[in-house]
Amino acid sequence: MREQPCANGVARHFVPEGFQTYAAPELAAAPPWAAGVCFNPACGRDFAPSRSWQIYCCAGCERQGVAELRRWGHRMALPLLVWRMGKYAPGGSAAGDLTRAARRYVAHAQSAWLAERLQRGDAA
Ligand SMILES: [Zn+2]
Repeated sequence: MREQPCANGVARHFVPEGFQTYAAPELAAAPPWAAGVCFNPACGRDFAPSRSWQIYCCAGCERQGVAELRRWGHRMALPLLVWRMGKYAPGGSAAGDLTRAARRYVAHAQSAWLAERLQRGDAA
């Protein structure tokens, strides 16, 4: 039987809110998407947002967007953690080499992700 969490318990770990909440002022000042243009690069359709934070034209594009974030996020999660775990690893050590490999991997994956989005936009 699963234990029920205690509603009056004190949170032991800080869990950051989502990026769109955390960086809401910055996203509002410099949005990486155009208002009323679907953020799914394979779609890119103009639409009338029913909410100010709506970035996909429809539920199908939103599902594809979530799947894209999940796919790329899953690839980058372990190297992001390894990078942070080795933040203070001394240079020239095996741990330092691993940390640099994790950082290079993340940069490579970010570039590949952006290239994939641009390619999907061109294909659409
Ligand atoms: Zn769309």
